[in-house]
Parts: sequence; structure tokens; C-alpha cells
Amino acid sequence: MSECFCGCGRRAAVSSRSINKLGRTMNHDMARVVALMRAGMRSPRGQEFVEAGSGLCDRLTRTVHAGVSPAPDVEQDARALSSYGRSHFSVDAIVTAVRHSGLSTAQATQALQRGDFDPYANVPPVPAVGVRQCA
Ligand SMILES: [Zn+2]
Repeated sequence: MSECFCGCGRRAAVSSRSINKLGRTMNHDMARVVALMRAGMRSPRGQEFVEAGSGLCDRLTRTVHAGVSPAPDVEQDARALSSYGRSHFSVDAIVTAVRHSGLSTAQATQALQRGDFDPYANVPPVPAVGVRQCA
């Protein structure tokens, strides 16, 4: 029914469904940031988010693959980081940043590709997660 968010094709156990869903949400938000960076965007905050998210996703993947309930700290970190991602790295957040920049969508796109426009410049720091590594 519910496949592991990492794309391996395994089924997620019932006990890890909720964390699997958080992982999928984060993967989507991170993939968008990575795609923008590949297009030329320079964004220190975006970079931080992707690094924190990748570290956390490794922990989530291990949990889903083990078919166990997530450790409390893993679940807490996943909730914190996915909600941070939704608030600050969603399509809506980009639209808002473009509007505040005073640039047209076309100008913002070109500036972003030149590395001159960072839609995440005013995003608050990434929550401290992913620092505790699983064994
Ligand atoms: Zn997997």
C-alpha cells in the first residue's frame, strides 16, 4: 500500500507510516531547492535545509526499512523539519519572496539563475536537527 519514501519500493510498515509521510513531504521540498540550486540559485539557507534534511532522511529511511516505530527524537526532528520546510521552502514561500522582491516573475527567474536572487534569503535558521546520528 504505502511505499517507502526513499524510492526503494519496499512497503512501509504500519508503525512507520506517519514518519514515511513526513519523509516524503521533506523529500519534495528538498528536491525543489536542489533543482533551483542546479538552475543557478545561490542560497546558503537552502543549502543548510538540504543538508539537514538529507541527514534526517537517512535516519527516517533506516526507521522505515527496519519496520519499527520511530525513536521519539527522530519523530520530533522529522515533525520540526518538515513543518519548517513547508513554511519556508514551499512554492507559496517562493511566490511570496518574489512578490516582496519587487521583481517580475521573469526577472526573478533570470536573477535566480544568475545567482543574484535568493528567495530564501530571509528564512530563519534551520532548526537544530540531524545532529544526533543513529548507530
Ligand atoms: Zn526505502
